[in-house]
Amino acid sequence: MKYIGAIYRPPSEAGSLIIQATVGCHHNKCTFCGSYRQKAFAIRPIEEIRDDLREAQYMGPVDRVFIADGDALCIPQQRLILILESINEFFPSATRIGIYANAANILRKSLDDLKKLRDLKLGIIYMGVETGDRGLLQRICKGATYEELVEAGSRVKQAGILLSVTVLLGIGGVEGSEAHAKHTADILTDLDPDYVGALSLMLVPGTPLHDEYEKGLFHVPDPFGLIRELRTMIAESSFSRCVFRSNHASNYLPVKATLPRDKDSILAAIDTVLNARDKKHLRPEFLRAL
Ligand code: SF4
Repeated sequence: MKYIGAIYRPPSEAGSLIIQATVGCHHNKCTFCGSYRQKAFAIRPIEEIRDDLREAQYMGPVDRVFIADGDALCIPQQRLILILESINEFFPSATRIGIYANAANILRKSLDDLKKLRDLKLGIIYMGVETGDRGLLQRICKGATYEELVEAGSRVKQAGILLSVTVLLGIGGVEGSEAHAKHTADILTDLDPDYVGALSLMLVPGTPLHDEYEKGLFHVPDPFGLIRELRTMIAESSFSRCVFRSNHASNYLPVKATLPRDKDSILAAIDTVLNARDKKHLRPEFLRAL
């Protein structure tokens, strides 16, 4: 298998075969994100991807496959179909293929395009939302408005593909913390995704947001401020049925809840931590990672 640079995948794809179909992120402008700044964006040739798949066959049966890098759904439809067909050819037993996407990638695909991808086992799309605060979405250069994010999420669900979204605790800074949490609860309600993954902001040197921080223009909420945002997002959102997790390594407090079923119990557990304000309840700083 050939991987170019660091590879990122959602925590829930830990057991998946990772196929790198793109190098870097086509958007690569989010002010907080340093994941792909060192990579020039490229779509890998199908022959290379097929070589990787052929080689991976020796690893044994594969149930799930994840397509990296950053916003790999930007791959033009016909090329993406070839990649999915190749995955199905080499791993006919695979039950689900996942991919990262941003709203712009999704909105460039029609509903029929997405259904065609679903028929080739694209079963889950991970879309970065980060916040529902309209002004903040612009400031962090997310490349999509609130309405575009909701439209993109709705198209994924209409196509019969699972929708998993990420939100970013702390991205509003101390000053924008409350508005960020409340508007993110609003967009989560409007999106009504199958899964939510909450991550906590970690400033990455070399990013525009880190520069703002160094100039004293951005202040990161303390760990309990981040957990308060998590509480607001859970308390003020409503879902049909959603698995809400903050088990990413960046978080101080890992939670996992099926909402709305577990809402009261998870809020009570978060309140215990917020009331105690004791760092022994939190993941130690040295264990946090992106
Ligand atoms: S957050 Fe996602 S879309 Fe934004 S630059 Fe990073 S990988 Fe690309």
